Amino acid sequence: MNISLVWIRNDLRLEDNTALIEAVKDADADDKILMVFCIDPKQLKTGSYSHDYFFTALNTFYRNCLEKELAIHFLYGDPQDCFSKLIKEFPDIQKIYFNIDDSGYGMVRDCAVRKILEESNVRILDFYDHHLHSANEVLKEDGSHYRVFTPYYNQWKNRLIRRVQKPDYDKLRKVILKNFAAKGEEGQNKFCEIQEMITTDFTVQTGEEKAQEILENFVERHLAEYEEMRDYPYTEGTSRISKFLSTGQLSIRQVYQRVEQAPNSKGKETFIKELGWRDFYNMIYHFYPKQKDEEIIEKYRNIRWEYDESRIEKWKEGKTGFPIVDAAMRQLKEEGWMHNRLRMIVASFFTKDLLMDWRIGEKYFSEMLIDYDSASNIGGWQWAASVGTDAVPYFRIFNPNSQSKRFDPEGSFIKKYVKELRNIPAKYIQEPFKYTKQIRKECGIDIEKIYDEPIVNHKKQRLRAIELFQR
Ligand SMILES: Cc1cc2nc3c(=O)[nH]c(=O)nc-3n(C[C@H](O)[C@H](O)[C@H](O)COP(=O)(O)OP(=O)(O)OC[C@H]3O[C@@H](n4cnc5c(N)ncnc54)[C@H](O)[C@@H]3O)c2cc1C
Repeated sequence: MNISLVWIRNDLRLEDNTALIEAVKDADADDKILMVFCIDPKQLKTGSYSHDYFFTALNTFYRNCLEKELAIHFLYGDPQDCFSKLIKEFPDIQKIYFNIDDSGYGMVRDCAVRKILEESNVRILDFYDHHLHSANEVLKEDGSHYRVFTPYYNQWKNRLIRRVQKPDYDKLRKVILKNFAAKGEEGQNKFCEIQEMITTDFTVQTGEEKAQEILENFVERHLAEYEEMRDYPYTEGTSRISKFLSTGQLSIRQVYQRVEQAPNSKGKETFIKELGWRDFYNMIYHFYPKQKDEEIIEKYRNIRWEYDESRIEKWKEGKTGFPIVDAAMRQLKEEGWMHNRLRMIVASFFTKDLLMDWRIGEKYFSEMLIDYDSASNIGGWQWAASVGTDAVPYFRIFNPNSQSKRFDPEGSFIKKYVKELRNIPAKYIQEPFKYTKQIRKECGIDIEKIYDEPIVNHKKQRLRAIELFQR
């Protein structure tokens, strides 16, 4: 009997899972497939939303497999050690299939595991799956990578995209290895232990079926208006599929193909462009592997960011006295998600108004976001801090109050999350401390008693931020 491993990672789905589908295609009648998930202690962030969401999604995937009479075997430990032990114990393991991680920790981990597998003569079959186009696929004519999005996108959008594939479930059921037990393996126990420690249950927001439902609803009802509505956080203007993409509960080709079938519209065009940004940031992270800790623009690597723990805490808690920032940060704390426009506003506020190091903000998001994706998160933070590739220029600083007036003109988003401001009229809600007298007179409310005063003066901080970059 030959055994092929299918190593599941951030691709928690059966449909259009390239590695799995190829393994099933290749299997002969007496071959066996063993689906494994390796719980890597380095990737555990117990107690954080991103951890809880990922492991809830893994549990949903596991249950979905069981329902379909399929099985996943859990390993626990450093992936190199886990695979090394497994291969020694089971010489029948001849091949391993997985979907490539071409940036970040995943890329480094895979490199190390590949070495072990090659030394043991296990055949590696790996596939590009997680992005529409991998990091090395869209390059300039001279073979170098792009640094600016528009020319990258112009080439990106003309490339062919593979069609969605379905696994052969009957064959998969026949070849899947169930009741597999390795000596001294603690993976299953660890998986159960992690499930018990989950503090926020995200079950209703997980699973392939749920992902399809959300995608379908978005394409049917909101895609055509995406261009006009995507910047307004109080509407359902965006798809909210990011959590399914980052965990692989939805394949990026399923998204693309469904969107392609929709009638042409400006919304459709803009939405596809956003998928291009996802690939762009992955490509950038591939070519700048130090980007999590280091600014891409060399001359900004020595910026002297300030450090004030109490201000950082106020930002995290949504108590900065800037209603739009506070509403956004409270949404993040309550739901583990934040609208893109707000991510830009709060990241800009953190770096240009509070003058704090973008790495601190990036780390906080990495724990709080249920859709955490290292390449997009680092890319977004370096963009907002003006230190990354194709970033916002340092002198174009968002004014949180003008952003708020523009994108939440009635203050409906603010009122949803900053409940103490729900009785403040729209005309005053963006900057309540500017209108204390009017609010007292018209509403009988002493704003000082119910809401925090702004922790910084935007105009002054703006100038200080510019100075920081010019030093
Ligand atoms: C500071 C900052 C941090 C961010 N961190 C993350 C993160 O950890 N994970 C994450 O998935 N996205 C991140 N983004 C990008 C973006 O905010 C989210 O992808 C988007 O808000 C998800 O909501 P949606 O699915 O409704 O997006 P939609 O507007 O419906 O877009 C569809 C999909 O396109 C992709 N996309 C859209 N905008 C971007 C973008 N600017 N960059 C990369 N991909 C994009 C996402 O996969 C998204 O799901 C970040 C942006 C900023 C400014």
